[in-house]
Parts: sequence; structure tokens; C-alpha cells
Amino acid sequence: MDFTNKTDGPAPVWDGAGSLEQLYRLGRRMLTGGEPGNSPMEAAFLFQKALGLDRGALLARGRENADPDRAKEYLALVERRLAGEPLQYLLGEWEFFGLPFQVGPGVLIPRPETELLVEAALAAVEDLPSPALLDLCSGSGCVPVALGSCRPDAQVWGVELSPAAMDYFRRNITTNSCGNVTAVPGDVLALPPAVTERRYQVITANPPYIRRGELPGLQAEVQREPALALDGGEDGLDFYRRLPALCYPLLAPGGLLALEIGEDQGAAVSALVSQAGFCQVMVKNDLSGLARVVLGRTPSG
Ligand code: GLN
Repeated sequence: MDFTNKTDGPAPVWDGAGSLEQLYRLGRRMLTGGEPGNSPMEAAFLFQKALGLDRGALLARGRENADPDRAKEYLALVERRLAGEPLQYLLGEWEFFGLPFQVGPGVLIPRPETELLVEAALAAVEDLPSPALLDLCSGSGCVPVALGSCRPDAQVWGVELSPAAMDYFRRNITTNSCGNVTAVPGDVLALPPAVTERRYQVITANPPYIRRGELPGLQAEVQREPALALDGGEDGLDFYRRLPALCYPLLAPGGLLALEIGEDQGAAVSALVSQAGFCQVMVKNDLSGLARVVLGRTPSG
């Protein structure tokens, strides 16, 4: 019987001792409030973090006694999750583009939709040997590290302003053994010379793009993420007004600018990218069918 999916029966109690199965089910019950649809997988993730057992191991060993210290750790993680901490921060690691990324307070959690930005960049350099790639507003480094990992022959630079995010970025380069990725501290609106001295085949960016007035209404979890990574100014477009013109002279002829956008920003950002002189400007949709990336090319010279 797969008790990891069982939702009926009385709510289990924990008095400091019990089996692994009882412990797991208690945490799951606390997280879901007994509602099966309410992300029961989160309990499995936190259980694995605290007890070191995945769902398969839990099924095989469910009747064994739970180590009391580890049990306490699991239930503490469940309580913190209930208090609104993002699952990804509690786990300390999250997957992006099939790679592990260390995350925690102070850095934006990599989103699956951002993989579209990586795919667009990879497609653009498919036939180019040893391309030079630049990523702006790198955060955890998920985009540049994914690019560097998929293209070991490329050189990739990533610029990030926040010291806390920079710390994660550097660790993620090391964790993923990406010697071809360089983390550059700095402001993308006043780019440091370390990244302006060469031309790039592709520049990617996932800048902050949430309208400032919408920040207080975001999910509790998102509110735990750094405002610096989310706040796109009054209309959410602050960075899109500046980045295209700043990126244009840094791109090689026929180079690609790829910007992640909010789902309702396709028309406005396309217009701004065109105004900066880019051609072949287009919007790409993510897997949910929402506008997610704007592409533009410099003339091929
Ligand atoms: N995609 C993020 C969100 O919706 C926003 C990321 C960003 O502003 N670049 O929470």
C-alpha cells in the first residue's frame, strides 16, 4: 500500500516517538490541512531534506522508528513552511535546467519559465564555435551557469548587483564545475569594464519586472524573495527602457538580445527593443502559453 498518498484516516499525532511513516504523514497532514490537492509533494521534499529518505526509501522503511532529532528537524521545517518560507529556501537547493542551484534568503528562486531564456540563447549559438555570452541581473546564476554547462566551449559572463545573490552565484559556478562562467559584481545600468571590453553573440537578462504597486499583493512566498530582483518600477518596465540601448553596442553583428518579460509586457517591451534599433523583434511564449521572452537581433553587418 502506498501510504505516501493516503489522505483519509485520523490525523496522526507525534509525541516524540513513532515510525517514519507516522512522522511523514503528520507533516503532510500539517502542510495540506487534509486536502490531497494541496501540494503533498512538499512533505516528501522536506522529509527527504531532514531524514535523508526519498519516497521509495520511505515506502520500504516506513515501519522503522524515526530518529527523534531528525524528526524534530522535519517538523520544524514543516512549521517554517506553514509560516510562509519558500520550500526552495528551506531545501537550500533547487533544480533549474536539470542542474542543482543553491538558493536561500536574498536570492530569487530560479523559475521553470526562465528555462525559455536559456533555450533561446542556446539555439542562437548552436552553430557558432566558442561563443561569448553575457547575462545581466544574474541572481543565483541559473541562466549563465546553465549556458556554460551546456556549452563548455563558450565563455559566459554574468553581472549581479546584490552581494547576497553574488555569493550564491559564485557557489553555483563551483557546484556545477563551470570554469567558463565568470561572476561579475556590478550594476547592469552602469556596466563594469570587465564586461564592456568585448562583443557578445548573445545577451540574456531576467530583470525585475513586477509593477511596484503589485509587490504587496504577491504570494507570501514571493514576498520572502528580494524586492531588488522583482521591483521593475512604477509600470514594471524600468529595465526594459534602459537595457536594449545599453546592450546594443555590446552585441556582435547579428547578435541576439533575449529578455524575460512578464506575461502582459510583450507589446510594450517589443516596442522598446525595436526603438533601440533591434530587428527581427519577436515574443516567445512559455509552456503555459504566456508571453515570456522578447528577442531582438542587431543587424548582421
Ligand atoms: N517571474 C517572477 C515572478 O513572477 C518575477 C521575476 C522578475 O521580476 N524578473 O515572481
